[in-house]
Amino acid sequence: MKAAVLKAPGVMEQDDVPDPVTPRGGALLEILACAVCGTDLKMREHGHRDLDLPRVLGHEIVAKIVEVDSDSSLVEGDKVQLWPGIACGKCSPCQRGADNLCPNVKILGFNCDGGFAQFLALPRQSLSGGVNLLPPGTDPCLAALAEPLACCINGQEQARVGQGSRVLIYGGGPIGALHALLAEHHASEKIIIAEKNPDRISLLKKHTSAIVVDLAEESGTAILAEEIGRAGVDVIITATPEVRTDGDLLKLLSPGGRVCIFSGPAFGNYQEIIDIRSIHYHQLAVIGAYGCTSRQNRQAVELLTSGMIKADWLITKKTNLDGIEDAFSHSSQRNGMKSVVCMSYRIDKSS
Ligand SMILES: [Zn+2]
Ligand SMILES: [Zn+2]
Repeated sequence: MKAAVLKAPGVMEQDDVPDPVTPRGGALLEILACAVCGTDLKMREHGHRDLDLPRVLGHEIVAKIVEVDSDSSLVEGDKVQLWPGIACGKCSPCQRGADNLCPNVKILGFNCDGGFAQFLALPRQSLSGGVNLLPPGTDPCLAALAEPLACCINGQEQARVGQGSRVLIYGGGPIGALHALLAEHHASEKIIIAEKNPDRISLLKKHTSAIVVDLAEESGTAILAEEIGRAGVDVIITATPEVRTDGDLLKLLSPGGRVCIFSGPAFGNYQEIIDIRSIHYHQLAVIGAYGCTSRQNRQAVELLTSGMIKADWLITKKTNLDGIEDAFSHSSQRNGMKSVVCMSYRIDKSS
């Protein structure tokens, strides 16, 4: 089969590799769509804590069942979205539903081959809870956004975003945008997005109800301060690695406020910078979020396929496996939003 294989940081190549076989108790899947995540870009350039090489990347996967080796209700031809975690199901975090925190978790596209290929071997563990059947007629590209949306659900559960929350989102890329749509869905009172890129700003203004503050403008910081107001916000979500979670950031929180460290912080932005004193006196919380649980993933599929969250506008680049370099460069240029590798997509050579 054809696959895009990351051989070393900076070296991703289109290869012909042996077709995977159906694992015992697992399933063989034909990939329909796989979206490019910021983490894929990071892994391709620099590697990642949880990445083993060589590897087929891609963890935002929608696929079609080819063969199932179990008594699961799935049958050939079913279209499914995958929770990329492969958890043990037995440990204490798994037992309480926090399967993203399973100490033995493996992740498709990290330490098992992922979705930038024609086929995928899905292990036995994934068939219990990790496979989400899609309603007929679902656009596979749209369903590929379920995993990143599920990660946002995780972040907002951790930070308790809900009705009436005042939320500040740093970074208006695909993740910031999904956070905004989800906070809208939760009936948040005020949603502010701080972003610099003009294309992203105009997309966010068009498709979300958030107040979008342009940090590239000279007056950006002052406008942001005005929107936050003296009362502060209840929740800050970092949706870019460039934010420093320091005392200045904590000052933007109202008493009892929460910071959700959603994006992996950039080097130099994560050590010895927390103001513990203000955490104590203002009863603040600094909360991490990494990945999503299988339950949150199921919920995300429902929100997208029912149209409760409208996210199709986030897909600003589609290509097929041959065009994967274009998909990655569209994402890394950060002018649009999300790239999706859609296996059946025909590249129009004339344009
Ligand atoms: Zn991702
Ligand atoms: Zn476990």
